[in-house]
Amino acid sequence: MEVTAANQNMGPIIGTAGFLFVMILILAFYLFNKLQLISVLKKNAEHLNRTIRELDYQAKMIIQGDMELKLYQEEVEDKLNKLTLLKNLIIASLHILDKEKLFSQVDEKTINDLGFKKGLIITTELEEKVNVGFESNEVEGIKDFILHKKQLVHALPLISAETEGTKEITNLLVTRDFLIAPVKAREKVYAIFILANMVMPIDVRRAEKEIFSIICMYLGQCLDNIQLFEEFYNAKDDLERKVKERTNELVKSLREIETISRAKTDFISGVSHELRTPLTSVKGFSSLLAAEKFGKLPEEAKKRLLTIDENVNKLVDMVNTLLDIARIESGKTEVKIAPEDVAKVMRNTGEFLSPQMHAKGINLVFDIPEMLPVYMDKNLIERVFINLLGNAVKFTPNGGQITLSAKINNNQALISVADTGYGIEKDNLEKVFQEFFRAENPAGAEVKGTGLGLSLVKRIIEMHKEKIWAESEIGKGSTFYFTLKLAKEPNL
Ligand code: ADP
Repeated sequence: MEVTAANQNMGPIIGTAGFLFVMILILAFYLFNKLQLISVLKKNAEHLNRTIRELDYQAKMIIQGDMELKLYQEEVEDKLNKLTLLKNLIIASLHILDKEKLFSQVDEKTINDLGFKKGLIITTELEEKVNVGFESNEVEGIKDFILHKKQLVHALPLISAETEGTKEITNLLVTRDFLIAPVKAREKVYAIFILANMVMPIDVRRAEKEIFSIICMYLGQCLDNIQLFEEFYNAKDDLERKVKERTNELVKSLREIETISRAKTDFISGVSHELRTPLTSVKGFSSLLAAEKFGKLPEEAKKRLLTIDENVNKLVDMVNTLLDIARIESGKTEVKIAPEDVAKVMRNTGEFLSPQMHAKGINLVFDIPEMLPVYMDKNLIERVFINLLGNAVKFTPNGGQITLSAKINNNQALISVADTGYGIEKDNLEKVFQEFFRAENPAGAEVKGTGLGLSLVKRIIEMHKEKIWAESEIGKGSTFYFTLKLAKEPNL
């Protein structure tokens, strides 16, 4: 019974304990779940933290990048401004050919655009060409520095406060913001350019240095071009002056030559004239004597007399030709140029000289039209043909051929006298027209002459304002050409 009663008392206890146990189990399960949730949440929180840190880092990076970009942008803008400055300077000075004008392009604006307050350009002769903001004592100090540090200033492309040996100029300018560069080209220094006091209180940057160097190089090149131009201009002036001087000298010499030539012509003309009268008398008497009009002569005397007669004839010929030349030269010969048939004159001359040709067995060929009207002085051109044909006969060996030809060429009459004679050396082709010139030729010794015929011929052709020339091949023959103006109808 007691057990039963005890059993009866134990029932609720067991129930409560069971209940508690269940509750504990539930609680434990709940706790376990919560712990798991907390662990997940913790992990999430850590992840979130990491993400926030990363985001923070990225945000910082973006801000830093943005700042760098801004700085970079500013630098690009600055460079662009400097390039624009350079472009403007180049455009403004491109056609400048004066040193002063070139220096005037470097004004206050240019200095400021370069980023500096003060600018100075001093030539190597220490002449002040540009001064923006420098006091006179500073200028003197800079001149002193340039003079004493010549090697340094001339040799280095750029000097700044960092360059060794610039302490005194740093002290003088009371700043470390300065740039000094030589303005030079082809190793020749023309001037020194000094910039000082940057507008912004920062160290002189690379861009400033680069652009300043380029500007100095460009100015040096411009000055060099101007120098070359001035030298060329002066040389041209000098040359012009010399040409003028020489021309004046030549004109003077030409006048002197003309005077001498006139004196020579007058002399020849005078002498020839004086000679003609006695010569005519000598010729008359020698002919009469040789013809034994004053009585019979011993054979020896007659032979000598004939030689005298021959030589007198030669002298008379020479004197007459000299007189003709002198007359033409002094302008005393009257020229009557009119339309004439040159073919007819050629045929007549051929006929006139046919006995001489016949004697030497020379064949005369005419290659001329029926009629060829030209402008000419008939008598003078007749003399030209007699001389040319006479020479052709003289310098052609027996059995040769002479061709007289006339044709229209380049709208003018081209006349030629060709022979199959000894020919003329190339070097003598022009000389044969000089007075008294006689070439040595195989028959030279036997061929008689004065060396005046072609000289007269040339003058006659030149009086017609036409040309004469000769072509020849030794051993094959010579051809003398001359031109005449064509006319429509000859004077009949
Ligand atoms: P000349 O006949 O009186 O010597 P020219 O003035 O007529 O004087 O000629 C000058 C020289 O030119 C001649 O001495 C001769 O040497 C040369 N000459 C002229 N015509 C001929 C020719 N047809 N053939 C070769 N030589 C010639």
